[in-house]
Amino acid sequence: MAEMTDTSEFDSHLFRTALVQLDRVAARLNLDPNIHERLRHPRRALVVSVPVRMDSKDIKVFRGYRVQHSTVLGPTKGGLRYDADVNLGEVTALAMLMSWKCALVGLPYGGAKGGVRCNPRAMSVTEREHLTRRYTAEIMLVIGPDHDIPAPDLGTDEQTMAWMMDTYSMTQGKTVPGIVTGKPLIVGGSAGRREATGRGIVYALYQAARHLQPLRGQRVIVQGFGNVGSVAARLLWREGCVIVGVSDVKGGILNPHGIDIRQLEAHVAETGSVVGFPGTEPVSNAELLEQPCDILLPAATGSQIHADNADRIKATIVVEGANGPTTPEADVILRDRGVTVIPDILANAGGVIVSYFEWVQGLQYYFWRESEITTRLQEIMTRAFNRVWALAAKEGTDLRTAALMEGVRRVAEGYRVRGFYP
Ligand code: GLU
Repeated sequence: MAEMTDTSEFDSHLFRTALVQLDRVAARLNLDPNIHERLRHPRRALVVSVPVRMDSKDIKVFRGYRVQHSTVLGPTKGGLRYDADVNLGEVTALAMLMSWKCALVGLPYGGAKGGVRCNPRAMSVTEREHLTRRYTAEIMLVIGPDHDIPAPDLGTDEQTMAWMMDTYSMTQGKTVPGIVTGKPLIVGGSAGRREATGRGIVYALYQAARHLQPLRGQRVIVQGFGNVGSVAARLLWREGCVIVGVSDVKGGILNPHGIDIRQLEAHVAETGSVVGFPGTEPVSNAELLEQPCDILLPAATGSQIHADNADRIKATIVVEGANGPTTPEADVILRDRGVTVIPDILANAGGVIVSYFEWVQGLQYYFWRESEITTRLQEIMTRAFNRVWALAAKEGTDLRTAALMEGVRRVAEGYRVRGFYP
C-alpha cells in the first residue's frame, strides 16, 4: 500500500473500523492508490458549538458536527444523530459509510452525517427544538437542497426535520422542502418514508430467504423497537415469522412461543416501552442477543455484537438495521461459524432510498402514491441484494465485503472519470 496521509483528527473506534474496511476492499479491488488515498479523507468536516438556553434559563453549549465525505456522485446525503457518544470520528466514519451505501444502491449522492453530542431523552421538547434550530443555523454554511440534505438518524425524528426545514426556510424567505428528508407528510414528507428502513430490511430478507430458508415460521429477535425495529417486526410477524424477543432502551422481553406485535404496539403506545408486556419474560438487552432464534435484527445502536458475545449468537442470519452494530472482530467470528450477515449498507438502505424519493418529489412539487414508493423501493433493494449476493459468490467472500466492494468501486469510478477533487 502507498504511504497514506495522516487522518488522526478523525481517530475513533468507528473511524478506525471504516478505514480498515476501506483498505481491505481497496486491496481486493486493486484500487488506484491515488483514489484510495482520496477516499480515506472526508471532503469537509464542520465542528460547531451550539449554545442553548435550557428550561432552567442557564445556557448550555453542545458540540455539533456535519461531515461530508464525498461529493463526486452528487450532493451529499445522510442523517443527523442526537446521542451522548457523538464525536467527530464517529460522524466521519458514518459519513463514509453513507458514501458506500448510496453508491451501492445507485443513488446520485455522496455520503454525509451530522450529529450533536447530547442526551435527547434528558431534554424537554422546547430544549430539543432550540438545539435543533441553533444547530441548523450553525451548519447552514454547508447544507442546501443541492449541496447536502440531512435526514433523521438515532435520536432524531420527523419533528426534528420539520424544525430544520422551518429554520432553513426562514432564512430564504420561502419554503424549501428539498433541504431535509424524513419530514412530516403535511410539509412535504413522502408517503412510506417512516416505514422505509424497516420495509427495506424485509425486502432484503425476502431475497435471502430464496437462497437460505423460507421466512414463514422463522424465529426472530429484534433489538430496538424504534422507527426501524418496530416496522420490521410488524412486517415479519405478518409474514408468519415468530417474534420471540424484542427490546428498547429500557430493556427486553422474551416469549419463545411468539409475541403479538399488534398488542405490543398498543402496550408501547400506552406505557412508552416494550418492558412489562404481559405474557413475556424480562431480559436485558445484552442477554436478548444470545437467545435462541433464526434471524437476529440489531436495530438499536453500534457495536452490539462484539468479540465477547459473537460466539454465543444463536441466529443463522444477522440483518443489520443499525449502522455498525457488528464489530470487525465479531464479523470474523460470525463468518467462521457460518452465520450470514446482511450488512448495514445493504440492509438498512431503504431509509435513504425513500429519502431520495422524498427529495425528488420535493424538488418537483409532485407527490407519488405509497404503492409507487414501495414498488420502487422493493425493486432497488432486490436488485442491490442480488448484485451483492452474486459478487460474494463470485469472489468467495462474505456479503459485507461484497457490498463494500460494490459501493467503493462505484465511488472510485466517479473519481476516475472526474479527478480527485470533489
Ligand atoms: N440515517 C439513515 C441512514 O443511516 C437515513 C439517511 C437519509 O435518509 O439520508 O441511512
